[in-house]
Amino acid sequence: MESVFDEMNFRDHEQVVFCNDPDTGLKSIIAIHNTTIGPALGGCRMWNYNSEKDALKDVLRLSRSMSYKAAIANLNLGGGKAVIMGDSKRDKSEILFRSFGRFVQGLGGRYITAEDVGTSVKDMEWVRMETQYVTGISRALGGSGDPSPVTAFGTFMGMKAAVKKQLGKDSLSGLKVSIQGVGHVGYHLCKYLHQENVEIFATDIDQQSLIKVSKDFNATVVNPDEIYDLDVDIYAPCALGATINNETIPKIKAFVIAGAANNQLEDESKHGQQLKQKGILYAPDYAINAGGLINVANEIDGYNRERAFNQAEGIYETLMTIFATADEENIPTNEAAEKVAINRMKEVSKLRNVFLPRQNPMRKRDN
Ligand code: NAD
Repeated sequence: MESVFDEMNFRDHEQVVFCNDPDTGLKSIIAIHNTTIGPALGGCRMWNYNSEKDALKDVLRLSRSMSYKAAIANLNLGGGKAVIMGDSKRDKSEILFRSFGRFVQGLGGRYITAEDVGTSVKDMEWVRMETQYVTGISRALGGSGDPSPVTAFGTFMGMKAAVKKQLGKDSLSGLKVSIQGVGHVGYHLCKYLHQENVEIFATDIDQQSLIKVSKDFNATVVNPDEIYDLDVDIYAPCALGATINNETIPKIKAFVIAGAANNQLEDESKHGQQLKQKGILYAPDYAINAGGLINVANEIDGYNRERAFNQAEGIYETLMTIFATADEENIPTNEAAEKVAINRMKEVSKLRNVFLPRQNPMRKRDN
């Protein structure tokens, strides 16, 4: 690596911490992108990176997107992320995660961690032995548990906002929705859609998940490669990223894209623009799927499921603001989302000059 400070994504980060503990084997990077609005919350990813440079690149990219996600979800949080370099199937241990927890504790609440790809609730419980600055722990220990029902509800509300914008209708009744991936989020999304009398078309590579949604919600099952060609009103990507790309955009007949998957646009600027040109209303992924973040963020003040669902309901208004901004400025909705998020960070930064005594961000948790 030539210079860490030359790394393209490094520039606007507040702090990047390299955590090295030879005794436990921990090699981790914690990236704090922005704490203007509040402490940086973001998951800890465990991945077998090819190089330290790849790990750094990944953590910097991910932490920036957490700042936007928290800002747009109207949470009092900033953005951060951590990565642990290692094989999540082979290299996990109590001491590895406790060591990571000590580094998190050392940041005094500037960074709050959570589970992510390659880490689990159990790992976070090891982290919790060393620090209070951790979320995503089990319901049994006072945590928020599985976030997917809240994510699905937020996605459903976002879908309703998109339909209101496109058709002026308050209900999804009678519409056709295709869902790619009926795992944790997709299943609960089907439940909300079924309750509203929506005709569901579902695909997955897991047959059991398909059998379940077809039985529970009368979903029509289609093959994975058929999902883009369907004559539906809404396409909901709830599996993988980058499914909106040069190959799929010409096929998509839906007038709304609204799903929970992360990083749906393969190329943010190009494909956002193409969707706009085609008249497809795209609900920006990190705005519509913020229910997961809203859920873990609720642990900070003592978890309350009802409050998490109420906040996720706010995704409707958030998307309406994004759509209005996109219209006013004649820009794609993904660009509008970024503008709204950055604007909130700028506005809140005006408070910097008003003195506030230090608060413990996890003030109500009985640890
Ligand atoms: P999951 O693993 O439970 O479900 C994903 C489903 O997609 C699985 O059933 C899998 O078999 C299926 N799948 C994989 N490849 C596929 C393919 N090629 N075609 C069709 N189906 C395929 O994950 P999840 O928790 O439901 O999350 C779904 C998406 O939403 C992910 O992109 C995730 O990052 C994002 N997300 C989830 C949450 C949350 O609360 N769980 C929050 C925010 C974002």
